[in-house]
Amino acid sequence: MGGVTFLSTSAARRYGPAELVVAQDLAARIAVAIENTILYRTLQEQDRRKDEFLATLAHELRNPLAPIRNGLQILRIGRPPGDPAERTLAMMDRQIGQMVHLVDDLMDVSRVSRGKVILRKERVGVRALAEAAVETSRQMIETGKHELVVCVPADPLFVDADRTRLVQVLANLLNNAAKYTPPGGRIELSAEPRGADAVVRVTDNGLGIPTEMLPKIFEMFTQVGSSLDRSQGGLGIGLTLVRRLVELHGGTVSAESPGPNRGSTFTVRIPLAVEAGTASTHPPGTAEPSAGAPKLNILVVDDNRDAADSLALLLEVKGHEVRMAHDGPEALRVLETFRPDLIVLDIGLPGMNGYEVARRVRGSTELRAVTLVALTGWGQEEDRRRTRDAGFDYHLVKPADVTEIEKVLKTLTKK
Ligand code: ADP
Repeated sequence: MGGVTFLSTSAARRYGPAELVVAQDLAARIAVAIENTILYRTLQEQDRRKDEFLATLAHELRNPLAPIRNGLQILRIGRPPGDPAERTLAMMDRQIGQMVHLVDDLMDVSRVSRGKVILRKERVGVRALAEAAVETSRQMIETGKHELVVCVPADPLFVDADRTRLVQVLANLLNNAAKYTPPGGRIELSAEPRGADAVVRVTDNGLGIPTEMLPKIFEMFTQVGSSLDRSQGGLGIGLTLVRRLVELHGGTVSAESPGPNRGSTFTVRIPLAVEAGTASTHPPGTAEPSAGAPKLNILVVDDNRDAADSLALLLEVKGHEVRMAHDGPEALRVLETFRPDLIVLDIGLPGMNGYEVARRVRGSTELRAVTLVALTGWGQEEDRRRTRDAGFDYHLVKPADVTEIEKVLKTLTKK
């Protein structure tokens, strides 16, 4: 509801039909502008709520992954490397790792447009990246009964990259090739040096991409064809993430296709590492019992019992003395009689949250020197700042890799 008033300074002034038309037109235009503003606000609000929903969804998906990952680490302890069970567990561990990163990507989707994804760079060989990507996509390629040809030079090509992110980029392209190629197709993954770049190509002989769609497919939520005639689902965010991640590495990605049903080629260019060096061996995270390492007293606090049990068991197997608590008040009760060197503390706890427990610990004379580790599903800068302010020494995002926890333990045993 609204009104537009026209006033004249002359009392004798009379408005005629022509002026009425102008006034009506003006009022109609103003009404449309107001309506557009309301719609725009509603859209902005919905967009914000979508971002919040994605972040919450990713957080909830992360929780069950922590105990699964800990359980796998426990099962791997003491198994010889060639053992079929160990190979299977290692594969499951890698796949869980990949899933963790997918969940992270879901979180990134709401942040990716603002360029807030942080890379964890190391020197890696392109061959290792290609192999890991093939392994990740193997099931999709096998399901499609496709022939996979991998053509990567024996001479090592090194890039300074976030290993998981680039594996994700290549696996994404391989998955798409498998998805958009009819059964029995051919997929090729090749790599070669070109000037200062490593050039990696994923080619398929599948559905292809219409020329007019080629410039658009890297845009968020773009999919060729309507969802009704698509047998393969998807969110239409894969290629957006691919492009953003490649660009974060200082590289480029492009797509070519001779046309529908004539296959597609995706080309990724990443700058080669400048000085000679060797790739990181990337410890697979095998948990060996640490013979001779000093025994620590550790309190694990998590209301997710599976997460607490599995982490406690993992730490016990490594020779530490572990106690558990499942809410804030229980943690404080345990601390009346148990003096830990380290407390691993979940933040979202019933009764009293992790921040409050941390503040109480820091406020107590006997416990002031204990090392406090926050183990939480939230990993944004704002969350890290809050844990720092509450007195935590470390902030680990669930599911924490056992190597990350070991790094913390090492700093303690050095003290
Ligand atoms: P989606 O989740 O839909 O696969 P992507 O961002 O990965 O989202 O891809 C966007 C669109 O680009 C896809 O919906 C598909 O139409 C097209 N596309 C991607 N890769 C290929 C390919 N190898 N062959 C044919 N079309 C492809």
